[in-house]
Amino acid sequence: MSGSTKTPELYVVGAGPGDPELITVKAYKVLQRADVVLYDNLANKELLDITRDECEKIYVGKHPYGSYTPQEKIHELIQEKALSKGTVVRLKGGDPYIFGRGFEEVLFARQHGIATYYIPGVTSMQASGLEDIPLTHRAVSEGIWAITGTKKDGSLSNDLRLAMQSNATVVIYMGMKKAVEIAETYRDAGNGNIPVAVVQHASLPHKKSVTGQVQDLPQLIQEHHLTHPALIIIGWVVGLEKNE
Ligand code: SAH
Repeated sequence: MSGSTKTPELYVVGAGPGDPELITVKAYKVLQRADVVLYDNLANKELLDITRDECEKIYVGKHPYGSYTPQEKIHELIQEKALSKGTVVRLKGGDPYIFGRGFEEVLFARQHGIATYYIPGVTSMQASGLEDIPLTHRAVSEGIWAITGTKKDGSLSNDLRLAMQSNATVVIYMGMKKAVEIAETYRDAGNGNIPVAVVQHASLPHKKSVTGQVQDLPQLIQEHHLTHPALIIIGWVVGLEKNE
């Protein structure tokens, strides 16, 4: 490994929900001076155009239905590239610390003497506003409950049952494979008529957004051919614009 005279450093950077113009100025500036970018499949590839020609760009995506880069491999690359080249940017979709393993990468890098920095990103659920869905609204929602649909062991989070009893808007990340269970959970508790929205490719030109009742979630997804990446938003904040 050829050593670099530059200080080894890792920037864990939020790429935002998809629209490349939704990254932060800090993210933009660090991309301009990056020596290496390790990017996810949810980070918009257009962001790579910000980097210098000499910057090495390496795809380390984990697609839920396809190719998979093991976390250990990403760690190895962080170490190798920071030591040999200097500034490594780890570009992750949305915010790196919201259902991303950004913090594991930071801890790994620190253990190996690499300076670490975190640059927050706009998380994908915030793009629901672009669909006229505010995540809170004084009259109908007292908070937001963001949940992963798929836990480490593949099961649906138990928190969904708790969230359902609250007044909060429930946002499910990585939940598309759990649509049947989600609909059943709500229906069994007598909450099947709560509005739901499924937003795919939020903030991007080819986005798709549909609304209905949570008890019909699987049919909605099927009829409209919705797939990853998509968010499931459940609550009375969905459809508010129709009540104007
Ligand atoms: N760190 C990311 C989330 C990563 S988990 C963030 O802060 O947004 C991956 C999940 O994020 C997907 O399964 C999907 O539920 C959601 N997601 C990410 N980008 C999205 C987009 N543009 N549109 C809809 N959902 C998105």
